[in-house]
Amino acid sequence: MDLGTIEDVVIPSDRSELPPGNEGTAVIAGGTWLLSEKQDHLRRLVDITALGWPPLVVDDTGLDIAATCTIEALAAARVDRDWPATALFPQCATALLASYKIWKVATVGGNICMALPAGAMISLTAALDGVATVWAVDGTDYTVPVVDLVTGPHENSLRTGDIVRSIHLPAHALEARTAFRKTALSPLGRSASLVIGRLDRDGRFVVTVSASTVRPYVVRFDSPPRSVELRAALNAAIPDSAWYDDPHGAPDWREHISIRSALQVLEELS
Ligand SMILES: Cc1cc2nc3c(=O)[nH]c(=O)nc-3n(C[C@H](O)[C@H](O)[C@H](O)COP(=O)(O)OP(=O)(O)OC[C@H]3O[C@@H](n4cnc5c(N)ncnc54)[C@H](O)[C@@H]3O)c2cc1C
Repeated sequence: MDLGTIEDVVIPSDRSELPPGNEGTAVIAGGTWLLSEKQDHLRRLVDITALGWPPLVVDDTGLDIAATCTIEALAAARVDRDWPATALFPQCATALLASYKIWKVATVGGNICMALPAGAMISLTAALDGVATVWAVDGTDYTVPVVDLVTGPHENSLRTGDIVRSIHLPAHALEARTAFRKTALSPLGRSASLVIGRLDRDGRFVVTVSASTVRPYVVRFDSPPRSVELRAALNAAIPDSAWYDDPHGAPDWREHISIRSALQVLEELS
């Protein structure tokens, strides 16, 4: 839809051309959410897609995903490394309730910054120990784990004017075996629960619960736990108030299916 209050669209090709952030200015990436509803508080858009960031950069430390990498490009990524966890890329991409437009132009950074419980790029990057690099409004950079960047439904830890530049997935997580469970009320419906298990080469086991909770929760073990230990750890880590309540599922059902999925991914990876 047209945003009738916008007076200025800035398309920087370099960081030095970024205007100062303020409450009336928003970054636009794919624009799939920003242009989907009224934004009457906004006067200016800063289109970050002309900054020329390479979508995916592989090196020995892992994979850097540009915030502007599209969900389609990530889902189709083929990396010349023994990184079994890249199987999660198409699994998480297709977990989104994505129209053709969203698949083609929505970005990984936009999905994370939106901070919706059903943000499958959040699930993916939190599950793989993703760390975001942020361009701060004062010209400095800082890093923040994705699991801490997303703080609640439609809430993140970014300050006004901060721009997510990229997300780094470390090699140790990409080398892991993974298991994936999505549950929704209908076959193509919005995720009610998305659980990812990870078994690292050094034997560590990591489980990430998302979509069913207000933000992602990551629980770690030095080795695969017994079922009873996993259940207890999830109950301890996720407070009752964190199970999400919306038309895609009631909190008690979401808790039940998430813990069942976690036990399944443990069994699959053990
Ligand atoms: C029909 C429909 C279905 C949808 N289904 C889902 C779904 O299942 N799950 C889901 O999570 N979302 C869903 N969405 C919401 C949205 O389309 C996606 O989250 C999408 O991935 C957002 O990416 P984008 O690049 O289009 O973001 P944009 O619309 O460009 O931006 C989204 C928000 O993030 C901010 N932003 C974007 N990039 C950055 C950056 N690099 N740094 C700082 N801030 C930034 C913008 O200012 C804006 O506030 C849906 C939307 C529609 C219209």
